[in-house]
Order: sequence, then C-alpha cells, then structure tokens
Amino acid sequence: MKRGLIITVDGPAGAGKSTVSKMLAQLLSYIYLDTGALYRAVAYKFLIDNTAPDDEKALSELLMRMSISLKNKHGTLNVFVNGENVTDKIRNEKIGLLASRISAIALVRASLLSIQRNVGKRGGIVAEGRDMGTVVFPDADYKFYLEASVDVRARRRYNELCMRGSNVDYDEVERDLIVRDRQDREREIAPLKAFDGATIIDSTHMTISEVVEKMMSLIGVRK
Ligand code: C5P
Repeated sequence: MKRGLIITVDGPAGAGKSTVSKMLAQLLSYIYLDTGALYRAVAYKFLIDNTAPDDEKALSELLMRMSISLKNKHGTLNVFVNGENVTDKIRNEKIGLLASRISAIALVRASLLSIQRNVGKRGGIVAEGRDMGTVVFPDADYKFYLEASVDVRARRRYNELCMRGSNVDYDEVERDLIVRDRQDREREIAPLKAFDGATIIDSTHMTISEVVEKMMSLIGVRK
C-alpha cells in the first residue's frame, strides 16, 4: 500500500535543497532522502581505500564490499558505511568534489539506484539530489527544481561550513562550487538540468520558509 506522495527536489549545490526538503518531509511526516549523502559515502570509501577513480576493477570490488545505510536519529540523518558512522566526515568540500567526480561513473550510479528506489517504493518521501525527477523517480507526484545565483549559493555553503566549525575561505568555497556545478551539469549520465515537468523555483531572493510555503501551496492545490 502507498504511504503517500513521492516529491523530488533537484538542483545545484547550495540552492537550499537539503534544508527545504527536510522541512517539507517534517511537515508532511514523510521520509527525507538525501541522495548526495550516498554519493559522498562512496567518495569517502574511495578516499580511505585509496582507490583511483579510473580503476574499474578496484571500483567494482569496492562497491560490492560496501554497505551503506541511512538512519534517522533524533531528526538527523546519519550515514553509515560498513557500520561506521561517517555523517560528519562526509560534509566537507574535498568529499563533495570527489563525490561529484565519482558520480559521473556509470557503475557508481547503477549501484546506488536500487538503494534509492527501495527507500521510495511505497511513497511518503521527499527525495533530494540531482536526478531525482529525471532518473530515480521519473513518476514522482511533484517535481521541484531549486535554483539560486552562484554568489548566493556560495554564501549559503560558506555559512553552513562555518557553522559546522570548518575553517574555510569564501573564494575557495565559491570556486569548488563552480567546478562541482560544471561537472554535474556536463556529465553524460544523469546530468543536472532544469527539466520539463519540474516546477522551477529560484530561491535567490527568497527565504527558506518562503520556498517551503510555495512548495506546500503547490502540493496542496494539486492534491
Ligand atoms: O547534494 P550534495 O552536495 O551532497 O551531493 C554531492 C555530489 O553528489 C554532487 O555534487 C553530485 O555530483 C552527486 N550527486 C549526484 N546525484 C544525486 C545526488 C548527488 O550525482 N542524486
């Protein structure tokens, strides 16, 4: 039996997808699926095992040995790789950039596809990422694409990293974000793009609450 709707939120880094999706999931009592965390978890394992992204054999072995799980603990999504809690270790720009590199590899995307579909198979989910509405949940009930200008996104990402206690340089954060965007948009498989069927929301001049309100009203009107 279906538990509820499938809502997808795609868009570039720093557009506010995580905050908005978490709030939406909370308001609707839905599952929140952060698919970027899955790609970051694979990147983390890559780094720890010193695997070269172009070594296909090592990569496929690594993916086979790897078990990723997401657990909600007191409202926070915890990410485990082979039983190790990596939640905090994957939230830095080095892992973000590596995640973006390895996410262009077909084998990596294929190995994460079933995990994602499995979480959403009965609905009642807000799934955020880059290809939620295009590849993972093409039949989703509501599809959003969240945008914002580069400087606003870089500023948000910079503030987020500072709040986590990272000692980061704003210009570096902006540079990394631009590189990651380009990689995500230009890759051949599941590229990031604003697509037909998605409601595009530009959050450059909007607060998080305004974005959530807009989404809720669209979901409400079309329910
Ligand atoms: O969303 P987040 O910044 O955590 O994602 C890290 C990277 O993982 C992205 O830059 C992107 O390359 C990749 N990713 C992806 N597809 C998704 C989610 C994330 O390719 N659905």
